[in-house]
Amino acid sequence: MIPILDSKRQYAKIGTEVEKVVCEVLRSGSYILGPNVKALESELAKYIGCNYTVALNSGTDALHLALRALDIGKGDEVITTAFTFVATTESIEIVGATPVFCDINPDTFNIDANKIEDLITPRTKAIMPVHLYGQPCDMDKIMDIAKRHNLYVIEDCCQAIGAEYKGQKVGTFGDIGCYSFYPTKNLGGMGDGGLITVNSENLKNRIVALRNHGGAIRYHHDEIGVNSRLDEIQAAILRVKLNYIDEWNKARRSHAATYNELFAGCSDIQTPKELDNTYCVYHQYTVKIPNRDEIHKMLQESGIGAMLYYPIPLHMQKVHAHLGYKMGDLPITEKNTECVISLPMFPELTLEEQKTVASTLISCLEKSKALA
Ligand SMILES: *Cc1c(COP(=O)(O)O)cnc(C)c1O
Repeated sequence: MIPILDSKRQYAKIGTEVEKVVCEVLRSGSYILGPNVKALESELAKYIGCNYTVALNSGTDALHLALRALDIGKGDEVITTAFTFVATTESIEIVGATPVFCDINPDTFNIDANKIEDLITPRTKAIMPVHLYGQPCDMDKIMDIAKRHNLYVIEDCCQAIGAEYKGQKVGTFGDIGCYSFYPTKNLGGMGDGGLITVNSENLKNRIVALRNHGGAIRYHHDEIGVNSRLDEIQAAILRVKLNYIDEWNKARRSHAATYNELFAGCSDIQTPKELDNTYCVYHQYTVKIPNRDEIHKMLQESGIGAMLYYPIPLHMQKVHAHLGYKMGDLPITEKNTECVISLPMFPELTLEEQKTVASTLISCLEKSKALA
Protein backbone atom coordinates (compact mmCIF):
# COMPACT_ATOMS: atom_id res chain seq x y z
CA MET A 1 0.00 0.00 0.00
CA ILE A 2 1.40 3.40 -1.04
CA PRO A 3 -0.79 6.15 0.44
CA ILE A 4 -1.34 9.54 -1.20
CA LEU A 5 0.02 11.05 2.02
CA ASP A 6 1.58 9.46 5.10
CA SER A 7 1.58 11.93 8.02
CA LYS A 8 3.03 9.31 10.37
CA ARG A 9 6.37 9.32 8.56
CA GLN A 10 6.72 13.05 9.11
CA TYR A 11 5.83 12.62 12.75
CA ALA A 12 8.46 9.94 13.16
CA LYS A 13 11.08 12.56 12.23
CA ILE A 14 9.87 15.57 14.20
CA GLY A 15 7.80 13.92 16.94
CA THR A 16 10.29 14.49 19.76
CA GLU A 17 10.52 18.19 18.96
CA VAL A 18 6.75 18.51 18.68
CA GLU A 19 6.07 16.70 21.94
CA LYS A 20 8.50 18.99 23.75
CA VAL A 21 6.81 22.23 22.63
CA VAL A 22 3.32 20.83 23.20
CA CYS A 23 4.27 19.94 26.77
CA GLU A 24 5.60 23.45 27.28
CA VAL A 25 2.26 24.90 26.16
CA LEU A 26 0.33 22.50 28.39
CA ARG A 27 2.40 23.58 31.39
CA SER A 28 2.28 27.30 30.51
CA GLY A 29 -1.41 27.79 31.23
CA SER A 30 -1.74 30.03 28.12
CA TYR A 31 -3.84 28.24 25.52
CA ILE A 32 -5.38 30.71 23.06
CA LEU A 33 -3.74 33.64 21.18
CA GLY A 34 -0.67 33.55 23.42
CA PRO A 35 3.08 33.98 22.82
CA ASN A 36 3.30 31.14 20.29
CA VAL A 37 0.59 32.64 18.09
CA LYS A 38 2.33 36.02 18.24
CA ALA A 39 5.69 34.48 17.36
CA LEU A 40 4.17 32.37 14.57
CA GLU A 41 2.54 35.46 13.07
CA SER A 42 5.81 37.37 12.90
CA GLU A 43 7.82 34.36 11.70
CA LEU A 44 5.32 33.76 8.90
CA ALA A 45 5.23 37.45 7.92
CA LYS A 46 9.00 37.25 7.55
CA TYR A 47 8.89 33.92 5.69
CA ILE A 48 6.15 34.94 3.25
CA GLY A 49 7.37 38.52 2.88
CA CYS A 50 4.46 40.70 3.98
CA ASN A 51 3.93 43.35 6.67
CA TYR A 52 1.44 41.41 8.78
CA THR A 53 -0.16 38.03 9.23
CA VAL A 54 -3.17 37.14 11.36
CA ALA A 55 -3.52 33.55 12.60
CA LEU A 56 -7.02 32.09 12.43
CA ASN A 57 -9.00 28.93 12.97
CA SER A 58 -8.97 27.72 9.36
CA GLY A 59 -8.31 28.57 5.74
CA THR A 60 -12.06 28.83 5.22
CA ASP A 61 -12.22 31.56 7.89
CA ALA A 62 -9.26 33.31 6.27
CA LEU A 63 -11.16 33.53 2.97
CA HIS A 64 -14.43 34.56 4.57
CA LEU A 65 -12.86 37.18 6.87
CA ALA A 66 -10.81 38.55 3.95
CA LEU A 67 -14.06 39.27 2.13
CA ARG A 68 -15.61 40.76 5.29
CA ALA A 69 -12.58 43.00 5.85
CA LEU A 70 -12.90 44.35 2.28
CA ASP A 71 -16.65 44.98 2.81
CA ILE A 72 -17.64 42.55 0.08
CA GLY A 73 -21.18 41.24 0.52
CA LYS A 74 -24.70 41.25 -0.86
CA GLY A 75 -24.94 42.41 -4.46
CA ASP A 76 -21.20 42.06 -5.09
CA GLU A 77 -19.56 39.64 -7.49
CA VAL A 78 -16.26 37.82 -7.04
CA ILE A 79 -14.57 36.23 -10.05
CA THR A 80 -12.96 32.88 -9.25
CA THR A 81 -12.48 29.32 -10.49
CA ALA A 82 -14.78 26.30 -10.33
CA PHE A 83 -11.77 23.97 -10.25
CA THR A 84 -10.95 24.19 -6.55
CA PHE A 85 -12.05 23.02 -3.13
CA VAL A 86 -15.54 24.20 -2.18
CA ALA A 87 -14.24 26.42 0.66
CA THR A 88 -13.14 29.00 -1.93
CA THR A 89 -16.65 29.70 -3.21
CA GLU A 90 -18.37 28.82 0.06
CA SER A 91 -16.63 31.84 1.61
CA ILE A 92 -18.08 34.08 -1.12
CA GLU A 93 -21.58 32.75 -0.45
CA ILE A 94 -21.14 33.07 3.35
CA VAL A 95 -20.78 36.86 3.02
CA GLY A 96 -23.78 36.98 0.65
CA ALA A 97 -21.77 37.80 -2.48
CA THR A 98 -22.00 35.93 -5.80
CA PRO A 99 -19.22 33.74 -7.19
CA VAL A 100 -18.68 34.25 -10.92
CA PHE A 101 -16.84 31.33 -12.47
CA CYS A 102 -13.99 31.85 -14.90
CA ASP A 103 -12.67 28.90 -16.92
CA ILE A 104 -9.15 27.58 -16.31
CA ASN A 105 -5.92 27.23 -18.23
CA PRO A 106 -5.72 23.55 -19.27
CA ASP A 107 -2.00 23.31 -18.50
CA THR A 108 -1.79 24.99 -15.09
CA PHE A 109 -5.30 24.11 -13.80
CA ASN A 110 -5.51 27.72 -12.56
CA ILE A 111 -7.88 30.55 -13.49
CA ASP A 112 -7.30 31.64 -17.10
CA ALA A 113 -6.31 35.28 -16.69
CA ASN A 114 -7.13 35.90 -20.37
CA LYS A 115 -10.80 35.16 -19.69
CA ILE A 116 -11.28 37.31 -16.58
CA GLU A 117 -12.02 40.66 -18.22
CA ASP A 118 -15.05 39.35 -20.14
CA LEU A 119 -16.70 38.54 -16.81
CA ILE A 120 -16.30 41.95 -15.19
CA THR A 121 -19.56 43.84 -14.54
CA PRO A 122 -20.36 46.98 -12.51
CA ARG A 123 -20.97 44.64 -9.55
CA THR A 124 -17.54 42.97 -9.66
CA LYS A 125 -15.57 43.76 -6.52
CA ALA A 126 -12.76 41.22 -6.44
CA ILE A 127 -10.83 38.47 -8.17
CA MET A 128 -10.07 35.38 -6.10
CA PRO A 129 -7.33 33.32 -7.79
CA VAL A 130 -6.48 29.92 -6.31
CA HIS A 131 -2.89 28.67 -6.50
CA LEU A 132 -4.10 25.12 -7.02
CA TYR A 133 -1.91 22.10 -6.23
CA GLY A 134 0.84 24.54 -5.16
CA GLN A 135 1.17 26.09 -8.62
CA PRO A 136 1.20 29.93 -8.71
CA CYS A 137 -1.36 31.72 -10.90
CA ASP A 138 -0.34 34.19 -13.58
CA MET A 139 -0.13 37.07 -11.09
CA ASP A 140 1.22 39.75 -13.48
CA LYS A 141 -1.85 39.48 -15.67
CA ILE A 142 -4.27 39.20 -12.76
CA MET A 143 -2.83 42.22 -10.94
CA ASP A 144 -2.84 44.25 -14.16
CA ILE A 145 -6.55 43.53 -14.69
CA ALA A 146 -7.31 44.29 -11.04
CA LYS A 147 -5.51 47.65 -11.21
CA ARG A 148 -7.17 48.71 -14.44
CA HIS A 149 -10.67 47.83 -13.18
CA ASN A 150 -10.12 48.86 -9.57
CA LEU A 151 -10.77 45.40 -8.13
CA TYR A 152 -9.51 43.75 -4.97
CA VAL A 153 -7.47 40.55 -5.23
CA ILE A 154 -7.77 37.85 -2.57
CA GLU A 155 -5.34 35.00 -3.15
CA ASP A 156 -6.36 31.51 -2.03
CA CYS A 157 -2.91 30.15 -1.06
CA CYS A 158 -4.26 27.25 0.99
CA GLN A 159 -2.34 24.71 -1.12
CA ALA A 160 0.66 26.86 -1.87
CA ILE A 161 2.74 27.92 1.15
CA GLY A 162 6.26 28.65 -0.09
CA ALA A 163 5.25 28.88 -3.76
CA GLU A 164 6.76 31.77 -5.71
CA TYR A 165 5.94 33.80 -8.79
CA LYS A 166 8.97 35.66 -10.18
CA GLY A 167 10.83 35.24 -6.90
CA GLN A 168 7.99 36.62 -4.75
CA LYS A 169 5.87 34.39 -2.51
CA VAL A 170 2.18 33.94 -3.28
CA GLY A 171 -0.13 35.77 -0.91
CA THR A 172 1.81 39.03 -1.27
CA PHE A 173 0.52 40.18 -4.68
CA GLY A 174 -3.10 40.94 -3.90
CA ASP A 175 -4.74 42.81 -1.02
CA ILE A 176 -5.03 39.71 1.16
CA GLY A 177 -3.60 36.17 1.03
CA CYS A 178 -5.32 33.20 2.70
CA TYR A 179 -3.55 30.12 4.00
CA SER A 180 -4.69 26.85 5.60
CA PHE A 181 -2.87 24.69 8.15
CA TYR A 182 -5.22 21.73 7.73
CA PRO A 183 -3.12 18.64 8.55
CA THR A 184 -2.73 17.51 4.92
CA LYS A 185 -1.46 20.87 3.64
CA ASN A 186 2.26 21.44 2.96
CA LEU A 187 2.51 23.20 6.33
CA GLY A 188 -0.09 21.36 8.38
CA GLY A 189 -0.98 21.53 12.05
CA MET A 190 -2.37 18.70 14.13
CA GLY A 191 -5.81 20.21 14.02
CA ASP A 192 -7.34 23.10 12.12
CA GLY A 193 -5.67 26.43 11.53
CA GLY A 194 -5.43 29.25 9.00
CA LEU A 195 -3.72 32.55 8.30
CA ILE A 196 -4.19 35.84 6.54
CA THR A 197 -1.30 37.77 4.97
CA VAL A 198 -1.75 41.49 4.48
CA ASN A 199 0.30 44.66 3.98
CA SER A 200 -2.25 47.29 5.01
CA GLU A 201 -2.26 48.07 8.73
CA ASN A 202 -5.93 49.09 8.63
CA LEU A 203 -6.97 45.81 7.06
CA LYS A 204 -4.84 43.91 9.57
CA ASN A 205 -6.54 45.67 12.48
CA ARG A 206 -9.98 44.96 11.02
CA ILE A 207 -9.18 41.24 10.65
CA VAL A 208 -7.72 41.07 14.17
CA ALA A 209 -11.02 42.46 15.45
CA LEU A 210 -13.18 40.24 13.24
CA ARG A 211 -11.39 37.10 14.47
CA ASN A 212 -12.36 37.90 18.07
CA HIS A 213 -16.02 38.97 18.08
CA GLY A 214 -15.55 42.23 16.22
CA GLY A 215 -13.74 44.27 18.82
CA ALA A 216 -10.18 45.53 19.13
CA ILE A 217 -10.57 46.08 22.88
CA ARG A 218 -11.91 43.32 25.09
CA TYR A 219 -15.68 43.63 25.73
CA HIS A 220 -15.96 46.52 23.26
CA HIS A 221 -17.68 45.22 20.13
CA ASP A 222 -17.85 47.40 17.02
CA GLU A 223 -19.32 44.92 14.55
CA ILE A 224 -20.42 41.30 14.26
CA GLY A 225 -17.30 39.17 14.18
CA VAL A 226 -16.60 35.48 14.72
CA ASN A 227 -14.51 33.31 16.99
CA SER A 228 -11.61 32.32 14.80
CA ARG A 229 -8.73 32.33 17.25
CA LEU A 230 -5.80 29.97 16.78
CA ASP A 231 -4.75 27.96 19.80
CA GLU A 232 -1.27 27.85 21.28
CA ILE A 233 -0.77 24.12 20.76
CA GLN A 234 -1.28 24.47 17.00
CA ALA A 235 0.91 27.57 16.85
CA ALA A 236 3.73 25.84 18.74
CA ILE A 237 3.56 22.81 16.43
CA LEU A 238 3.47 25.00 13.33
CA ARG A 239 6.54 26.91 14.53
CA VAL A 240 8.48 23.65 14.72
CA LYS A 241 7.28 22.62 11.27
CA LEU A 242 8.01 26.01 9.71
CA ASN A 243 11.72 25.23 10.18
CA TYR A 244 11.32 22.35 7.72
CA ILE A 245 8.95 23.79 5.13
CA ASP A 246 11.62 24.73 2.57
CA GLU A 247 13.27 21.33 2.86
CA TRP A 248 9.90 19.59 2.50
CA ASN A 249 8.84 21.68 -0.50
CA LYS A 250 12.21 20.96 -2.12
CA ALA A 251 11.63 17.22 -1.62
CA ARG A 252 8.17 17.53 -3.22
CA ARG A 253 9.70 19.29 -6.23
CA SER A 254 12.33 16.63 -6.57
CA HIS A 255 9.67 13.88 -6.42
CA ALA A 256 7.71 15.72 -9.13
CA ALA A 257 10.83 15.77 -11.33
CA THR A 258 11.29 12.04 -10.71
CA TYR A 259 7.68 11.28 -11.69
CA ASN A 260 8.10 13.41 -14.83
CA GLU A 261 11.12 11.30 -15.81
CA LEU A 262 9.39 8.01 -15.04
CA PHE A 263 6.44 9.04 -17.26
CA ALA A 264 8.56 10.60 -20.00
CA GLY A 265 8.04 7.83 -22.55
CA CYS A 266 4.31 7.44 -21.94
CA SER A 267 2.18 9.52 -24.32
CA ASP A 268 -1.05 8.67 -22.46
CA ILE A 269 0.09 10.51 -19.34
CA GLN A 270 0.16 14.28 -19.41
CA THR A 271 2.46 15.43 -16.62
CA PRO A 272 2.00 18.82 -14.89
CA LYS A 273 3.49 21.91 -16.52
CA GLU A 274 4.96 24.86 -14.66
CA LEU A 275 4.67 28.49 -15.72
CA ASP A 276 8.02 30.18 -16.43
CA ASN A 277 9.58 31.92 -13.44
CA THR A 278 7.48 30.10 -10.87
CA TYR A 279 8.37 27.90 -7.92
CA CYS A 280 5.60 25.31 -7.66
CA VAL A 281 5.41 23.45 -4.33
CA TYR A 282 3.45 20.39 -5.51
CA HIS A 283 0.81 20.13 -2.84
CA GLN A 284 -0.48 17.58 -5.33
CA TYR A 285 1.19 15.88 -8.26
CA THR A 286 -1.66 15.67 -10.73
CA VAL A 287 -1.58 14.08 -14.18
CA LYS A 288 -4.16 13.78 -16.95
CA ILE A 289 -4.99 10.35 -18.31
CA PRO A 290 -7.60 8.65 -20.52
CA ASN A 291 -10.22 6.31 -18.93
CA ARG A 292 -9.56 8.03 -15.64
CA ASP A 293 -12.35 6.47 -13.54
CA GLU A 294 -11.45 2.93 -14.62
CA ILE A 295 -7.73 3.55 -13.98
CA HIS A 296 -8.51 5.11 -10.61
CA LYS A 297 -10.33 1.93 -9.58
CA MET A 298 -7.49 -0.26 -10.86
CA LEU A 299 -4.93 1.78 -8.91
CA GLN A 300 -6.94 1.50 -5.73
CA GLU A 301 -7.18 -2.25 -6.19
CA SER A 302 -3.38 -2.34 -6.61
CA GLY A 303 -2.84 -0.47 -3.34
CA ILE A 304 -1.92 2.91 -4.85
CA GLY A 305 -3.54 5.81 -3.02
CA ALA A 306 -4.57 7.97 -5.96
CA MET A 307 -7.22 10.67 -5.47
CA LEU A 308 -9.48 12.83 -7.64
CA TYR A 309 -9.17 16.56 -6.92
CA TYR A 310 -11.88 17.46 -7.78
CA PRO A 311 -14.47 15.05 -9.23
CA ILE A 312 -17.30 17.61 -9.62
CA PRO A 313 -16.61 21.19 -10.77
CA LEU A 314 -18.08 23.74 -8.39
CA HIS A 315 -20.51 25.25 -10.92
CA MET A 316 -22.20 21.81 -11.02
CA GLN A 317 -22.44 21.42 -7.22
CA LYS A 318 -25.89 21.50 -5.64
CA VAL A 319 -24.78 24.27 -3.27
CA HIS A 320 -24.27 26.61 -6.24
CA ALA A 321 -27.27 25.43 -8.32
CA HIS A 322 -29.04 28.74 -7.64
CA LEU A 323 -26.37 30.50 -9.71
CA GLY A 324 -27.86 28.87 -12.81
CA TYR A 325 -24.74 27.41 -14.45
CA LYS A 326 -25.07 24.38 -16.71
CA MET A 327 -22.76 21.74 -18.18
CA GLY A 328 -20.88 23.29 -21.11
CA ASP A 329 -20.44 26.71 -19.49
CA LEU A 330 -16.84 25.98 -18.43
CA PRO A 331 -15.58 23.48 -21.02
CA ILE A 332 -11.95 23.32 -19.91
CA THR A 333 -12.81 22.99 -16.23
CA GLU A 334 -15.28 20.22 -17.09
CA LYS A 335 -12.79 18.39 -19.29
CA ASN A 336 -10.10 18.54 -16.59
CA THR A 337 -12.50 17.22 -13.96
CA GLU A 338 -12.89 14.08 -16.06
CA CYS A 339 -9.22 13.29 -16.64
CA VAL A 340 -7.18 14.44 -13.63
CA ILE A 341 -5.76 12.08 -11.05
CA SER A 342 -3.42 12.94 -8.17
CA LEU A 343 -0.66 10.49 -7.25
CA PRO A 344 1.10 9.85 -3.92
CA MET A 345 3.05 12.99 -2.99
CA PHE A 346 4.70 13.83 0.32
CA PRO A 347 8.29 14.68 1.28
CA GLU A 348 9.11 11.25 2.74
CA LEU A 349 7.98 9.31 -0.36
CA THR A 350 10.80 6.96 -1.49
CA LEU A 351 12.20 6.41 -4.96
CA GLU A 352 11.16 2.73 -4.78
CA GLU A 353 7.58 3.81 -4.06
CA GLN A 354 7.59 6.29 -6.92
CA LYS A 355 8.83 3.58 -9.29
CA THR A 356 6.04 1.28 -8.12
CA VAL A 357 3.42 4.02 -8.58
CA ALA A 358 4.73 4.78 -12.07
CA SER A 359 4.98 1.19 -13.29
CA THR A 360 1.55 0.36 -11.86
CA LEU A 361 -0.08 3.37 -13.52
CA ILE A 362 1.59 2.56 -16.86
CA SER A 363 0.50 -1.07 -16.76
CA CYS A 364 -3.06 -0.09 -15.76
CA LEU A 365 -3.21 2.21 -18.79
CA GLU A 366 -1.96 -0.60 -21.06
CA LYS A 367 -4.51 -3.06 -19.61
CA SER A 368 -7.39 -0.66 -20.07
CA LYS A 369 -6.31 -0.02 -23.67
CA ALA A 370 -6.16 -3.75 -24.40
CA LEU A 371 -9.68 -4.19 -22.99
CA ALA A 372 -11.11 -1.34 -25.06
C1 LIG B 1 -7.85 23.43 2.22
C2 LIG B 1 -8.35 24.50 1.35
C3 LIG B 1 -9.20 25.51 1.83
C4 LIG B 1 -9.79 25.51 3.20
O1 LIG B 1 -8.91 25.44 4.23
P1 LIG B 1 -9.40 24.84 5.66
O2 LIG B 1 -8.27 25.15 6.57
O3 LIG B 1 -9.64 23.39 5.48
O4 LIG B 1 -10.64 25.58 6.04
C5 LIG B 1 -9.55 26.52 0.95
N1 LIG B 1 -9.13 26.54 -0.32
C6 LIG B 1 -8.34 25.58 -0.83
C7 LIG B 1 -7.88 25.66 -2.23
C8 LIG B 1 -7.94 24.52 -0.02
O5 LIG B 1 -7.17 23.56 -0.52
